[in-house]
Parts: sequence; C-alpha cells; structure tokens
Amino acid sequence: MTSYKELGLVNTRAMFAKAIKGGYAIPAFNFNTLEQMQAIVQASVETKSPVIMQVSKGARNYANGTILRYMAQGAVEYAKELGCEHPQIVLHLDHGDTFELCKDCIDHGFSSVMIDGSSLPYEENIALTKKVVEYAHAHDVPVEAELGVLAGVEDEVSAAESHYTKPEEVIDFSTRSGCDSLAISIGTSHGAYKFTPEQCTRDPKTGRLVPPPLAFDILHEIEKKLPGFPIVLHGASSVPQEEVDTINKYGGKLPDAVGIPEDQLREASKSAVCKINIDSDSRLAMTAASTLPSIPVTSTPASI
Ligand SMILES: [Zn+2]
Repeated sequence: MTSYKELGLVNTRAMFAKAIKGGYAIPAFNFNTLEQMQAIVQASVETKSPVIMQVSKGARNYANGTILRYMAQGAVEYAKELGCEHPQIVLHLDHGDTFELCKDCIDHGFSSVMIDGSSLPYEENIALTKKVVEYAHAHDVPVEAELGVLAGVEDEVSAAESHYTKPEEVIDFSTRSGCDSLAISIGTSHGAYKFTPEQCTRDPKTGRLVPPPLAFDILHEIEKKLPGFPIVLHGASSVPQEEVDTINKYGGKLPDAVGIPEDQLREASKSAVCKINIDSDSRLAMTAASTLPSIPVTSTPASI
C-alpha cells in the first residue's frame, strides 16, 4: 500500500473548491509516456497552474502501475526542480470500470479515481459508485462518477451514441452514490472526430467545420440543482486546426477533424465545470511535432 501523500501528490478537493469560487477549470491531461508527462509538468509550472495527470486503464497497463507510481513522484520532484515550491499535482484514474481497478489504483498512489458506471442501468451505476466511494473516502481519495453517455472512442471506452445527462437525476445520483464530482454529457465526445459534417455548419471563408454549441441549458440546470458541486467535462479537446493541418500536410489523414471551440470551454469553466479533460490535443501535438521534417522524432512537443 502506497498512499499518494507519500509521493507528494494532492487530491482534488481543495483544488476544485478554489476553481469553482474563482470561475476557472483545472486541466486534466491523459498521458501514456515520459515525454507527455514532461510536457504536462513543464506547462503547469510555466502557467503556475495546478494540474491533473490522468491515465486510463489501457494507459496504466501500457505504462505499468509500478513505473507510473514513480513517474508521478518524479513529476512532483521535477516541478520543484523547475521552480514550483508546492506542486499541486493529482494522479487520477480515468474511466475506471470496476471496483477492483479503482481499489488497486488507490492502493498504489492515485490521489483521485473515476468510476464510470454510465453504461450500466441507473441503479447499478449508483451501487457501483457507492462501493468505490466507501473505499476511496476511507483513504482520503475523492471519486468522480459519470451520468449520461458520451459518444466516441477513448482507449477501451466507446459508445456509438451520446445521451445527454438528465438534470432531474443529478441530485438523487450524487446524494445516494456519495460521489465528489460528476462527469456529464452536454455535447462533448471522445476522440478527434467529435462531430460529423452533418452536425456542423461550414465557415464559408475557411471551409472549416463549425461545430454545434454545447448544451449550456442542461449545464445551467444541473448547476442550479447542485450548487457548488464540481462538474467534469470529458471529450473536451479543442482539436487545434494548425496541428491537424500539419499532420495532413505531411501524410496524415484527418479530414474535417474538429473539436470543442476554446471560447465554449472558457464559458463552461466559469460555471461549476472545474475539470476539463484533454487527451486528443496532446496526441495531435505529438503527432504533428514528429511529422515536421525539421524536428527530430525524439523531441518533446513545445506545447500541449
Ligand atoms: Zn472520458
């Protein structure tokens, strides 16, 4: 048993409370490799921002749980070396699908876990979340749950269709499950293809797709029902078009890849949204950097 506190990590409680008060959101970056982790820590120190480093089940299998624990400890020490006196770094399990996986992560240094029971019937989602909450809270680890279904593919998590979160369920769900934050579905989705061209309009000047707006009405209704309760946006990469253009220019094929516009993410973060998940954008940045002929393949991306 290794507590995250021994590794110098923090949990999300104080971080989220401050973010809600301040009207901003904490970035949660997925990572699989050393280079991604270095970029995340560098950027968080440069911007003086707290940060959530998160891994999916697949990433954890890839990186190895033991190595990952020391990488997280290394991230804290690296942030100090870069000049950050008190690093605010969280190691979070993204889309945990069983109690056993969540328990294993808590036992091995994670300071936050998500249990995703969103594909289960409502009552089963509550029961599974509650079981994880009981174990996690005994170790001072907060739990993120999910209500509503996001479309798209993320590692081993995939769904063909999205189902918006029903605001009338959020009070009952959060009270009975005891979860500390809630991932909701309001129009974001996993992957670099968040929208089909049919769902979008096209900018006549640039020819680029313009995605439909997020369902802010649902977000505001949820916020009214759960004042001050931390809300999480998954599938919120903005899919920077300059990265997509670079990839396409050097042989990639990502036609019409489009993400969530940054102004909408800023708008959402002024509300109870206090964690924004980003995975595709880091992958696009790494892919674009490694396709550029002038940059060696082994270099760290300049930005994430
Ligand atoms: Zn997700």
